[in-house]
Amino acid sequence: MDKCSFCGRSRKDVEILIEGVSGHICNDCIEQASNIIKEETTSVKGLKTLNLKKPSEIKAFLDNYVIGQDDAKKFLSVAVYNHYKRLQQKNTHDDVEIEKSNIIMVGRTGTGKTLLAKTIAKLLDVPFTIVDATVLTEAGYVGEDIESLLTRLLQVADYNVKSAERGIVFIDELDKIARKGDNPSITRDVSGEGVQQGLLKLLEGAIVNVPPQGGRKHPDQKMIQVDTKDILFICGGAFDGIERKIANRLNTRAVGYGALSKTAQINKENLLQYIAPQDLKSFGLIPEIIGRLPVLTYLNPLDKDALKRILVEPKNALVKQYTKLFKIDGIKLTFNDDALDYIVETAIKFNLGARGLRSICETVMTDAMFELPEKNVKSFSVDKKYVEEKISNYSHKMAEIN
Ligand code: ADP
Repeated sequence: MDKCSFCGRSRKDVEILIEGVSGHICNDCIEQASNIIKEETTSVKGLKTLNLKKPSEIKAFLDNYVIGQDDAKKFLSVAVYNHYKRLQQKNTHDDVEIEKSNIIMVGRTGTGKTLLAKTIAKLLDVPFTIVDATVLTEAGYVGEDIESLLTRLLQVADYNVKSAERGIVFIDELDKIARKGDNPSITRDVSGEGVQQGLLKLLEGAIVNVPPQGGRKHPDQKMIQVDTKDILFICGGAFDGIERKIANRLNTRAVGYGALSKTAQINKENLLQYIAPQDLKSFGLIPEIIGRLPVLTYLNPLDKDALKRILVEPKNALVKQYTKLFKIDGIKLTFNDDALDYIVETAIKFNLGARGLRSICETVMTDAMFELPEKNVKSFSVDKKYVEEKISNYSHKMAEIN
């Protein structure tokens, strides 16, 4: 009787049995073999392509999409480069073990933290997911729930465990799980600290049981084991009010390693650039977590100039997108400089930051996009007057967003 030469099952026990020159293979074995090939080739190919990018190349790539934030880009590029160098060093046998360089980025919301992490993931072509630390707070300090943050990574990796194990997880709003005070014996809010403890295990590297569908674990759910030691964690948070902690430290600690000399000019407008690990501790992160996030960097607030550049410069800048949309209809679209200025000023006025640029542009462009395709025009120029008019029609809407 015909049998699968791999698993030994007979034709009647399988769905499909394919005949070869001197044997047979069933559909299940084909599928399994295909998975093995997929896993092997992604792990080998992945590392090879990563090999090509030097830190300066990584930064140049980021420059295509993210405006400004040079310090953050530099730190990220080096950290990511070292991370993947570390992966490739795995098989060398000496005593020096390169430690993982998880990253923490501090900066106001809408300054590009998520965008940086996303862009890095795009460059590296590894599974990438964004998780929100606030969700973890709600679930309390039940460790299993924290592990389910890897479920999303598994899902984007098509449940290819090897590939997920080299992925990047962006944990947003890390500041929301901060302990409420610096002194644990006085103000002990267990939920924040409990979550931090749970997270610690993932950050430092552990084999964890991940529920494939997320949510809470239950006894008869089959778990997938994921090793987190090679997963790069990038954390972000606004850490509102941390400037005060930085200012206090700068004022009180004028001596010692790393302290700024009294004569050094401190830019009081942008204190974040002086951020140090102890400020995170004052804010309420436990020292162990800080220790597992050795790369600390900051993002600058976006000023008028940066917002304007964001409108026109990135590879997928809004102005480029609208120009392309109109071009498809054979219309040459241009934006006057003062029109762009007005859009930026509106974003600043309504405190919308870079995130608001999109909705403002939609407000400005909708009528044109509605009317022009049927009119036989060859070009359309957006000037300040046009922008003013459209925005004033919709300003009640803007006020609501704010
Ligand atoms: P957050 O710092 O809160 O994570 P995001 O990265 O999500 O902010 O930014 C929101 C949006 O604003 C981005 O999708 C992008 O369109 C725009 N943006 C913010 N900062 C920048 C920047 N530095 N360069 C280009 N676009 C930016």
